[in-house]
Amino acid sequence: MNNLFDSLKNQKILLPRTIVFREANYKKPPKLTDILQPININNQNSNERQSFEILNNSGILQETNQSKSNSKSNSKEEENFQFPKRRLFNPNLLSSEIEWNSVFKIGNGFHNHGKTSYINSILQCFIYTPSFTQYILQEPHPSTCQIHNRTSNDFNQNFFCAICAFFDIVFQIRNQVNQDEKDLLFLLKNLKLIGQQFNLNQEQDAHEFYIQFLQKMIESCLFGFERLLDIRSQETTLIHSIFGGYFKNNIICSRCHFNNKVFELFLDLSINIFGSKSLEDCLLSFTKQEKIQYYCSFCRQQVLATKQLSISHFPLILVITLKRYNFFQKQVVKNNSFIKFPEVFNSNNFSTIIPESSQKPINYLLYALVIHQGDSANTGHYISYVRNSNNIWYKFDDEKIQQVSLKTVLKEKPYMIFYRQQKSKD
Ligand SMILES: [Zn+2]
Ligand SMILES: [Zn+2]
Repeated sequence: MNNLFDSLKNQKILLPRTIVFREANYKKPPKLTDILQPININNQNSNERQSFEILNNSGILQETNQSKSNSKSNSKEEENFQFPKRRLFNPNLLSSEIEWNSVFKIGNGFHNHGKTSYINSILQCFIYTPSFTQYILQEPHPSTCQIHNRTSNDFNQNFFCAICAFFDIVFQIRNQVNQDEKDLLFLLKNLKLIGQQFNLNQEQDAHEFYIQFLQKMIESCLFGFERLLDIRSQETTLIHSIFGGYFKNNIICSRCHFNNKVFELFLDLSINIFGSKSLEDCLLSFTKQEKIQYYCSFCRQQVLATKQLSISHFPLILVITLKRYNFFQKQVVKNNSFIKFPEVFNSNNFSTIIPESSQKPINYLLYALVIHQGDSANTGHYISYVRNSNNIWYKFDDEKIQQVSLKTVLKEKPYMIFYRQQKSKD
């Protein structure tokens, strides 16, 4: 024993050189696809289903089956991606809602309550997102909402539920209940609970409202579950299943060649447009390899590394925000240049976005735009364009609605571009 301690004291003998860790040959565990089944599929016991619906207002809580929930990612990526241990929502429930299931009349616009065009424009884009709207109407959320009791009409300010607010808007539009601004009152009354910075009389960033409104809806989905779930499992709500994708950030140390892969959730892609003429250019520079100074945890020193961003998991709804506002000489300046964007976007066209060619290509269809009108970054007005269920495009300028051609839409200079996945033909 003493000899061992003596040897340990002299570490130079035991460890003559630095240990370099390398990736192990990882063997995938057997697939659980055939063992675990989602608990909410039709052949399940209805009592069991009910008890889970009460548990969560947006879906279900179940143990996950890795291969099922992420079938779009390839096996090589799956080995490095940390999968959620539990799921709140089964994304398969959205598979029949990707396209519009019926044709309906275009809905109403929304009154401007001061400077609320940033809210109106984003809401129109959400309303014409088939997977979101159809699912919400089909599985009426308020009946199972844990945040407030809808029957009491007692809208407690502290228990505002953003999904209930959105359901109200969609329900009234689809049922032509309301033709004036009444439908937004619940949301506007609780605006400060979506984001402290939002108010009716000051123009705000539409993209900021998009993010904060989604976050508020995510909060509703997680209500009661926050402490039970690890971070990755918290990213399995209805909202994440529609709008959430994952970046893969590859950082390779030039000294030890260790490849640090970090997966990060996104709800939209915010991309630089400077020097680009098309969306394709913007995306290629977004995913371009770059050299960075980096602290390598294996070399334990500052090293030169290559960094490349790619998309490892594509969302059902791909929202691209063009960074039109940039700091220049301590001022925010708007870049109003024209960026060409396609009606149909195939993920296969962007080889750097999809690192391994085995990933199944995804076709995205353009269905909504948010435009910021005006040359200044500080003032202006937001409008939106949406593709209705009959494929006809409409321009929404607060309460004004106008039918437009696709050609008009494609000539615009959007701030935010909404694409939705099309059903694959096979
Ligand atoms: Zn609710
Ligand atoms: Zn290193």
